[in-house]
Amino acid sequence: MSETYSVKMRASSDGRHVSGAEKIVPVGSVSKVASRLVERALSHERGTPDFINVKIESLSSDILRLKALPVMTHVVATPAEGRALAARLLAEAGIANVDEIMVRFSETHSLRGAMLLDADTLERLEPDQSRGVRATYMDDAAALAKGTAGVKNHYAEAIVLATKVQNAPNIIAEICVSDDPDYVTGYVATRELGYRRITVLKEKGDPNGGRIFLYRGPRDGVAKTIEFLEKTPVLVDDVPTLSCAANAPRRFDGLADALDARQAAGLSRRCRTLEGPTGPTAIVDGRELVVFASNDYLDLARDPRVVKAAADAANEFGAGSGGARLTTGTQPPHVRLESALAKFKGSEAVLLYGTGYMANVGAISALVGKGDVVLSDELNHASIIDGCRLSGADVLVYRHGDMEDLDRKLGACREHRRRLAVSDGVFSMDGDILDLPRFLEVTRRHDVFSMVDEAHATGVVGCTGRGLAEHFGCELPDVLMGTLSKALGSEGGFVCGSKLLVEYLRNMSRPFIFSTAPGAPAMAAALAALEVLVAEPGRVAKLRENIALFVSELARHGVSVRGETAIVPVVVGDEKKALAASAALEELGFLVPAIRYPTVARGAARLRVALMSAHTPEQLRAAASSLAKILKS
Ligand code: PMP
Repeated sequence: MSETYSVKMRASSDGRHVSGAEKIVPVGSVSKVASRLVERALSHERGTPDFINVKIESLSSDILRLKALPVMTHVVATPAEGRALAARLLAEAGIANVDEIMVRFSETHSLRGAMLLDADTLERLEPDQSRGVRATYMDDAAALAKGTAGVKNHYAEAIVLATKVQNAPNIIAEICVSDDPDYVTGYVATRELGYRRITVLKEKGDPNGGRIFLYRGPRDGVAKTIEFLEKTPVLVDDVPTLSCAANAPRRFDGLADALDARQAAGLSRRCRTLEGPTGPTAIVDGRELVVFASNDYLDLARDPRVVKAAADAANEFGAGSGGARLTTGTQPPHVRLESALAKFKGSEAVLLYGTGYMANVGAISALVGKGDVVLSDELNHASIIDGCRLSGADVLVYRHGDMEDLDRKLGACREHRRRLAVSDGVFSMDGDILDLPRFLEVTRRHDVFSMVDEAHATGVVGCTGRGLAEHFGCELPDVLMGTLSKALGSEGGFVCGSKLLVEYLRNMSRPFIFSTAPGAPAMAAALAALEVLVAEPGRVAKLRENIALFVSELARHGVSVRGETAIVPVVVGDEKKALAASAALEELGFLVPAIRYPTVARGAARLRVALMSAHTPEQLRAAASSLAKILKS
């Protein structure tokens, strides 16, 4: 790599260190990066420096590329806890005198560089003990591409340094904490354990920091180690930066730590962009994938009649509603849709909400409050859980689908003023159906409110997609919640019930009252989709055929799954394995998301296959066979 330069900046005030950084950059970026580093020094929160030294050197020797150590964050509460953990990690790395090392760690403060200690005899090995050993000439290989060159990022810089140090000959471990009084996070790094971030390793306000490099090897190897640390230029690849944490003020550290801990556990999340209209295929990152992840079960979101209805409504009524329903936000499409949904579900009245989430939160928190009780299935959707929490009512969770447990728990809470039992109709991550007749029998016997979430049942369950009451041939629950965002291809939520219930919610339900009404285009689209669904019940039948074909194909390949509804869960268990299986499927052209905690319980990660009426038999067969193959490998 010719024409590469090291750019170093050191800034001080009254002889006191203020800021320092180094970058390895191609010649074309030297002046830009140098000026960024100067800006950084001049705007440092420790004060304006009176001396800034920028050193720019051409790198003559080859640059070594290293892969960043894997990072894991340990969240601890106190410095004592952090130091005990650091000692444990060092012991795990095969170091005997950890207590003594922790004492020495407190003695590193006066050094500009690191203390180089023999890991076994604890003898100091630096030629100049007042200076210590400095690890320099290193950078994040991707910093330029990420546009973060010159931007302060403690997180990335520490990983780069630790990676270089752990690749030095005869170095077996490092322990470090910053001298910044506000930065209390430190780390222990070894090649085997990786970079173990410890969130609290000193008291806040403590201006002392330092580092120890632990050496195990012959004395005549020390010079080579120091030469590597101080002279060999290194670029580190795959530095797992939290780019959003770069340059963030200290008060954001806790946020970065929480994100980092999620990432280490295989639980971090990101949004993927799907190009083109929603449907059974999409372009993702430039590749066409068959989508087994959409809740648009009947392929209505892109149906020309539905799209035209939305466009016509936008032209006629405008894009947004301009107000809450009780002020200026009620437009003809809202009124028409409420009456069409009531007819479709066979209820007296319907109330629309901005989303299904709001419908659950709004209905539950209006119906019960302090002094009341909600009985909630343990696998209920997050919006139900949040509604229960927000209501302030006592919440009793009963075992999944266990009507005897529900019965028992209802029997034990007769003292509460109002009682509500609530369940998903189709469980969103498991795809199973609530036994509605039994649920109604138990709740009516106890004379408590019954509420069922038909988000994934509407358009899917029952011969014509009307939901659980059609499927079982039974009555409706007192409160039937649904969403327009799944089989109805639009967005918005609704609650069906008696006129009394709906009038009550219209007056008492805060997400209905205090939020702007959903726009007319979305309402008109849902209305058109509902009309298509009623006119073409064959779509529901086609979806059911697809479910049967997919499940039987999986069975033929030795994978047995439940196929009651359009949601077919394939439970993998381990979060990282589920992610790996999802990535492997994507390689083969299928988009099947891995569902992990907190959406499902820890250790119950799964691939959630969502089927559509528009999937072709070929797509279903290919997906089943690929899925089975990946699960077996
Ligand atoms: N209930 C269930 C069971 C759901 O799966 C969802 C959506 N994931 C909702 C409610 C919320 O509906 P919406 O997306 O329309 O807010």
